[in-house]
Amino acid sequence: MSTLFTKIINREIPASIVYETDHVIAFNDIDPQAPVHILVVPKKEIPTLNDIELEDSKYIMEMYKAIREITKDLKISEDGYRVITNCNSFGGQEVFHLHFHILGGKKLGSMLCSK
Ligand code: 5GP
Repeated sequence: MSTLFTKIINREIPASIVYETDHVIAFNDIDPQAPVHILVVPKKEIPTLNDIELEDSKYIMEMYKAIREITKDLKISEDGYRVITNCNSFGGQEVFHLHFHILGGKKLGSMLCSK
């Protein structure tokens, strides 16, 4: 069964898409945690950060290129922003399709890591 994010890629579930290439899609998070909260997702079902293989490098490079272009377009690149990937249970991952969260648009607090 395909992941939630593959359903967004295939337009089976609607999303506010802000960027797309052959290998990557980016869309607004449904529950934003900052004025800018965008998810950058490879068009390959890589479940977690642990599962990235060397052959996936084109997806990973394009994800970083997407971050650079999206943050420049939104004019948040100079002020700065944060990129997060949650991994598995302790990392708080909910959707098991690799993604980067781009968070920005305001001065963010300290790193989330409750003791
Ligand atoms: P994770 O916890 O796996 O790192 O992040 C999953 C993210 O996906 C969460 O920030 C959550 O708000 C977002 N999300 C979950 N369901 C949907 C959805 O249907 N549409 C969009 N755009 N985002 C979603």
